Amino acid sequence: MLKLYNTLTKNTILVKPVQKGKIKIYTCGPTVYRDAHIGNLRSYLMADWIRRTLEMQGLHITHIKNITDVGHMRQELLEQGDDKVIAAAIAEGKSPAEIAHFYTERFLYDEKELNIIPADVFPKATDHIEEMLEIIEQLVSKNLAYEIQGNVYFSVSAFPDYGKLSGNNIDGELLDAVRIEADPLKKDSRDFTLWKKAEPGRELKWPSKWGEGFPGWHIECSAMSIKYLGSHFDIHTGGVDNIFPHHEGEIAQSEGYTGHDVVNLWVHGQHLLADGVKMSKSSGNSFILSDLHEQSIDPLSFRYLCLTAKYGTRLNFTFNSVKAAQRGLTRIRNLIWNWNVLDCIDPNDKTVMNSWTDRFLETINDNLNLPSAISLTWKLLKSDINPRTKLNILHKFDQVLGLGLSNVKELYQVPNYVRDMVNKRKLLRNVSNYVEADTIRDELNAQGYVLEDTVGDTRVRPKTAFEKREELWYSYSSSSEVPSMINQCDSVRFTVGILACNYLDDVKRCVSSSLKYLNYINAEIIIVDNNSHDGTGEWTEQMAQSNSRVKVIHTDHILGEAAAKNIILRQARGTIIILLDTSVEITGDIFSPIEEILTDDTIGLTGPLGLRTDNLHHFHDGEGESGDMDAMQAYCFSFKRSKIKEVGFM
Ligand code: AMP
Ligand code: ZN
Repeated sequence: MLKLYNTLTKNTILVKPVQKGKIKIYTCGPTVYRDAHIGNLRSYLMADWIRRTLEMQGLHITHIKNITDVGHMRQELLEQGDDKVIAAAIAEGKSPAEIAHFYTERFLYDEKELNIIPADVFPKATDHIEEMLEIIEQLVSKNLAYEIQGNVYFSVSAFPDYGKLSGNNIDGELLDAVRIEADPLKKDSRDFTLWKKAEPGRELKWPSKWGEGFPGWHIECSAMSIKYLGSHFDIHTGGVDNIFPHHEGEIAQSEGYTGHDVVNLWVHGQHLLADGVKMSKSSGNSFILSDLHEQSIDPLSFRYLCLTAKYGTRLNFTFNSVKAAQRGLTRIRNLIWNWNVLDCIDPNDKTVMNSWTDRFLETINDNLNLPSAISLTWKLLKSDINPRTKLNILHKFDQVLGLGLSNVKELYQVPNYVRDMVNKRKLLRNVSNYVEADTIRDELNAQGYVLEDTVGDTRVRPKTAFEKREELWYSYSSSSEVPSMINQCDSVRFTVGILACNYLDDVKRCVSSSLKYLNYINAEIIIVDNNSHDGTGEWTEQMAQSNSRVKVIHTDHILGEAAAKNIILRQARGTIIILLDTSVEITGDIFSPIEEILTDDTIGLTGPLGLRTDNLHHFHDGEGESGDMDAMQAYCFSFKRSKIKEVGFM
């Protein structure tokens, strides 16, 4: 049986159903004023794997995932009357309900794409105000909460167990973050809001015995978990940032209300990171599923990526890692395809099947050790068990992994005319007409199909969107991946470097005008296509293919300006590098003057316009002699390549 790490008891414990044969799970769901980022989705994947693991072992699961459509994820801001759903509604000119509905639908779609089994109920906070008020009233009557001027607060000092989950109450110490801007009405700064009086003009509000108001954040999860799962249930999940204050608050409310323990096991998933820090919208390092779609990456590749790390460890997301996951997933699908037994007929070897399934269960039951489960899956794939049995075992594994491996047949389906062409090619090969046979193969390849000749047969499947994209061009994930030519000697007089991110017309004008005036000059143009999506990638690629002086490097997401420009610096082979902004149109020979200026070795940078400053904070366009300038504009930024070695990259 499954063992999981319990944040409350700080050890790994066996999941023992409260009610025989049944497991009840509550998962803190999304706040629906924006898209869930893939970090959020990682925590829902964890809950999904827990559910599937238990289901595989014959337990009946009830899974609840709430939709936070009122209030705020951060209690201290809520206490200042801040509500992200309302803020988003105002910003987008919609009602809070419209905003919540829109993002709820998108969330459900994201979950579907990740093959997450839908929760049995997705209760909305706004539908459960009555239940919340009932708990709050009880807490007040038990002296666990108090009312002041229409606000109701939980009285932390009246609940001695407060802090048992997070350790944040030891010696009355609380995280500084929640002390900030402490509400002066609170009796104790640790107290948290259960009900907040509505400020004038507020739309989202409900009547209560203390006047019109709205609920705090934690109370919704107490109310909805108890309503749908009863006052004693098995598992509660969330991300580690939910431990405090959210789940600490929930424990105080639920246990204060019922008078006993409510949740058996608290499971928290570690964060998905990007650039080494927690992925979050506010840090500006978050990606959503459509960012993966843009790269033709299958959402299930993200699922596969998350399988490669234990839920209790941080996982650093990079496009490179998810692309590697995509290749891994495609390899699995291709193996299945090659076995040529796409129909799951009853296995003829039950003993082999059982022994593999037992090993699999043993692995995942050990605190959901999914990375080991994946390596066991690869062992199985590479084993010499007969394909039919192998496929059956794999389908069993996939009940937990959820990679959609039973869909390979549908995924790899091809239209009839493609089959006909493959058959025609077979006949041609039989009579050794390889020339015509190859023409058919090339034609199908161009149409997006992969042919593979096996012993006595040919198999055909559609290329994945990702394979098609990779055929177009390679995309880099970071500047450090791009080979550096910095130690190689100069091979041309000038490198014109252009960093392009959309604005195709500008890019065309900038590149064409540069080419025009570089006509008889020994030079190269290096364009970094910083993940454009308006055709700039295609146009620059075409330019590079038709003009040997133009080189383009594509990135797979928008890199920071310095990182993207460093790609140019790494690849440049010109004695002089000229970085042009795409808004620039060259209307004359700028190259000779630049070269002349830079013959003076005391000059580091040159360009047509400069910037002046009075305070080194604010710069304004300068006019007149370049000698008056304090800084260079980046429109046209020229320097000798040899200087990079002296001053380093950007
Ligand atoms: P929210 O919509 O902000 O309430 O978050 C929904 C869920 O995602 C919560 O369980 C959070 O703990 C979790 N979460 C937030 N950021 C991350 C992240 N970077 N990695 C993993 N889980 C996260
Ligand atoms: Zn919650």
